[in-house]
Amino acid sequence: MALNMYDHDVAIIGSGLGGLVCGAVLSMHGYKVGIYEKNRQLGGCLQTYARDKTIIDTGVHYIGGLSEGQNLNRIFNYLGILDKLKLKKMDEVFDVIGFGADSKNYKLAQGYDNFKAQLLADFPDEEKALDDYCNKIKEVCAKFPLYNLRTGDYTEKEEVLHIDTATFISELTADKKLQQVLAGNSLLYAGEAHKTPFYIHALITNSFIESAWKCVDGGSQIAKLLGRSITGHGGKIYRNTKVTRLAGSHDKIEYLELEDGRRITAGHFISNLHPAQTVQMTDSSQLRNAYRSRIEGLENTTGTFLVNIVLKKDCFPYLNYNYYHHETENAWQGVEYTSENWPLTYALFANATSKSEQHTDSLTIMTYMRYDDVAKWKDTFNTDSQPNTRGEDYEAFKKEKAELLLNVVEKKFPNLRECMLSYYVATPLSYRDYQGTADGSMYGIAKDYRNSFNTFISPRTRIPNLFLTGQNLNLHGILGVTISALITCGELIDIGELLEKINSA
Ligand SMILES: Cc1cc2nc3c(=O)[nH]c(=O)nc-3n(C[C@H](O)[C@H](O)[C@H](O)COP(=O)(O)OP(=O)(O)OC[C@H]3O[C@@H](n4cnc5c(N)ncnc54)[C@H](O)[C@@H]3O)c2cc1C
Repeated sequence: MALNMYDHDVAIIGSGLGGLVCGAVLSMHGYKVGIYEKNRQLGGCLQTYARDKTIIDTGVHYIGGLSEGQNLNRIFNYLGILDKLKLKKMDEVFDVIGFGADSKNYKLAQGYDNFKAQLLADFPDEEKALDDYCNKIKEVCAKFPLYNLRTGDYTEKEEVLHIDTATFISELTADKKLQQVLAGNSLLYAGEAHKTPFYIHALITNSFIESAWKCVDGGSQIAKLLGRSITGHGGKIYRNTKVTRLAGSHDKIEYLELEDGRRITAGHFISNLHPAQTVQMTDSSQLRNAYRSRIEGLENTTGTFLVNIVLKKDCFPYLNYNYYHHETENAWQGVEYTSENWPLTYALFANATSKSEQHTDSLTIMTYMRYDDVAKWKDTFNTDSQPNTRGEDYEAFKKEKAELLLNVVEKKFPNLRECMLSYYVATPLSYRDYQGTADGSMYGIAKDYRNSFNTFISPRTRIPNLFLTGQNLNLHGILGVTISALITCGELIDIGELLEKINSA
């Protein structure tokens, strides 16, 4: 472990949740960790920003699995951050789904019994379909060992990897509305009909049925607490420090090179970047061309367009649930929008604030947007540490799109514009520049039920001291990335022992 001839035992590139969880676990195990982050703020998608004295989240709106005894609760408890997080449990009904001009709302509830009972009220003849749906979710989740914080073998899940979500749901019931309601929050995983594997739907849906939580005053607290744990265990974190190259001899990485030319040595390297960016950072011949082309050829999930609204004081009620809307009767159609019918779907998240229980101070409205829609401005770059303008035409584009989206949202929330103080827009270019990806994809590599194995990325590379972590490996989201980080740590420490510690913490 203590490889004193190096700057660090383990150098981690990127301080997204994956990099931070790896840093925390490994530093708790005695490794001297150094994390290199290109942005001013830690956390990647956990970053928040403030406008008009209001905190705005960039990529955490709710989190599953955080009740006592549940998977993320246990991991965060082991990491020593659980009791310090400011969390708010969401209402029993955590997601509400609406369609077009129909005023009827469909409700997804926490707890399997509640989940079934809520939907049964709207679909009284569908008890069997709802039982089959819940049982299948539980069956699929049980086959993912680390999700259940136990060791196991990848063959367990083999038989459930090739189920298509849309087909599975349509075979459950002939009721078209129920089919669409069950797919109603597919923005959560950028779901595509006849592509997204059911295991993705199951792992994510299950985590929220188990329990759904909001971070009070923003998700950046997770990054701050993990950062503190890392430095408390002797690790070092370097912000505003971009890594440009991973270099070494034939068979291993010896150092990473920073933008200013400095070289940092380490015994092991973990990249929290998109695997395509990682592969491009090294010319090592250990990474065969076939691996490079496979990684670089994988499709990413689509990008997003967000309007973050700062609200007037005590004007808009705090909704302790999320609202997902579909303009048509087809919940899968939103991702296939055209320039004529955009936006076809949106999610509305009210942010939990310590300022008030009754009212929220900000809302996030999220919909899809493909990188192609903003590719015209691809040669611009803008972050808070490297501020630049993308031009007046980009500002006009953002405004036009934001107003279109607000027009759709206003149909459901008529007092919205009245309560607005200001709004701030993020496009796939914002995510590209902050996350360091090529196309600002929301959730990284898109999974495909026809080819599930190809879209699982191993934390191990052919370079024996280079490992990968982050949302591109197995599953995105706070839970998915945290579990993926445990898998990465399992390359350096005994995973069985780690799980034992997590389970007995
Ligand atoms: C709009 C949106 C909403 C979301 N909402 C939710 C939600 O409600 N609940 C949920 O569970 N999940 C949500 N997610 C998903 C979740 O936020 C992500 O899956 C997760 O945070 C990704 O973590 P990561 O470790 O993969 O890294 P990232 O967050 O992608 O971080 C990568 C880090 O690497 C750094 N980096 C990149 N290149 C370099 C370089 N060359 N040198 C140094 N550093 C570099 C970046 O600056 C960044 O800090 C959302 C995501 C998005 C985009």
